[in-house]
Amino acid sequence: MINLELPKKLRASANQAHQVAQEIFRPASRKYDLAEHEYPVELDTMAAMVEGLSDSGTEQISGATGGRTGDEDKHATELLGNTNGGNMSALMNALETSWGDVGLMLSIPYQGLGNAAIAAVATDEQLKRFGKVWAAMAITEPSFGSDSAAVTATATLDGDEWVLNGTKIFVTAGSRATHIVVWASVDRSAGRAAIKSFVVPRDAKGLTVSRLEHKLGIKASDTAEIRFEDCRIPKDNILGSPEVNVEKGFGGVMQTFDNTRPLVAGMAVGVGRAALEELRTVLTDAGIEISYDKPANNQHAAAAEFLRLEADWEAAYLLSLRAAWMADNKKPNSLEASMSKAKAGRMGTDVTLKAVELAGATGYSQRTLLEKWGRDSKILDIFEGTQQIQQLIVARRVLGLGSDKLK
Ligand SMILES: Cc1cc2nc3c(=O)[nH]c(=O)nc-3n(C[C@H](O)[C@H](O)[C@H](O)COP(=O)(O)OP(=O)(O)OC[C@H]3O[C@@H](n4cnc5c(N)ncnc54)[C@H](O)[C@@H]3O)c2cc1C
Repeated sequence: MINLELPKKLRASANQAHQVAQEIFRPASRKYDLAEHEYPVELDTMAAMVEGLSDSGTEQISGATGGRTGDEDKHATELLGNTNGGNMSALMNALETSWGDVGLMLSIPYQGLGNAAIAAVATDEQLKRFGKVWAAMAITEPSFGSDSAAVTATATLDGDEWVLNGTKIFVTAGSRATHIVVWASVDRSAGRAAIKSFVVPRDAKGLTVSRLEHKLGIKASDTAEIRFEDCRIPKDNILGSPEVNVEKGFGGVMQTFDNTRPLVAGMAVGVGRAALEELRTVLTDAGIEISYDKPANNQHAAAAEFLRLEADWEAAYLLSLRAAWMADNKKPNSLEASMSKAKAGRMGTDVTLKAVELAGATGYSQRTLLEKWGRDSKILDIFEGTQQIQQLIVARRVLGLGSDKLK
């Protein structure tokens, strides 16, 4: 029988993340929505806490480091017959902190998406050097977004250093992180197999943060354009093997998506839950009863709609858990990671906008955070691979067709 209760250790870390979300993020949520590009000073409190916790060997508060804690949970093993580790914990933390504020969640120091890439593929020596940095992830360029094989940034080996050139855009936490994980080609003539990732300190000479974006939502999160002009980094800052293996393609760099996509799904699940809770309050205040005993078609139309949204939310939650569980248990999860991201991304926008709709003028105004969540959730269906790209990946895997056959 499947036991869907969270194991004790995960419950404890999720509760801790929820507390941070409730006490630090929610109260500051509107403030930074109205003050885009202002540094959220509340994050310094977070940084101290996160650093303290990682120094003491305790689970980290937040989300994006998936994969490497590798901590086997005895209780989880008893309950679920598995080894719940870093991915599941990261998912729960991303979910809880995003319930508080997803823009602030994306700005938590030392928890960038680049950290997930480092955690997934760094050597032990690199983990010693980069295990505690704050790393953003820079893949997207002015010439492409979805087609990650189209990287034009270059990395050329010169003695003991890589020399990086190119421009990256839309880098989350790009102006605040201490390091940037950059995708660049070591040989443009060799195609996708030559795309590698590099850890670049943000204060490296030749790296410039050239622009900050103004956005629809997640305004607390900085989104930067970064230029690399003859930017030199040590030779051993490359993640994974420098060898260009045409047979293997660029599976190495793509692998990090299997860890990060369930996390982004978790963020959508967190925002969705926030909206459902607020909507329940609004409906209850309006005298609308939501019953789990009566059939939906015998209830107020708004209550019936609420039940539909909640079921949709639950499906996204369970798909996210499955994808993270598989990653923790070393099961190939590309299909499930994309399924979770596609479902949760769609659910997040649907649930939050329906909540605005059902709450009417209250939902559309700034009296509650409903309208903000409607704006915030859209990005979760775009970055780390859009809705359409996730569906494409699912279709390819289900039908057994390669990217050359199904584009
Ligand atoms: C706020 C924000 C933060 C971001 N953070 C980061 C970050 O930290 N690091 C980073 O590297 N990037 C980041 N991005 C970039 C993001 O990952 C890209 O925007 C995303 O991958 C989509 O790329 P694009 O915008 O170029 O859209 P395009 O690829 O041009 O796509 C446009 C539309 O066409 C659809 N489409 C594309 N190809 C296909 C296809 N084959 N079949 C069907 N439909 C298709 C897409 O789904 C989309 O709807 C961020 C973007 C934003 C807005």
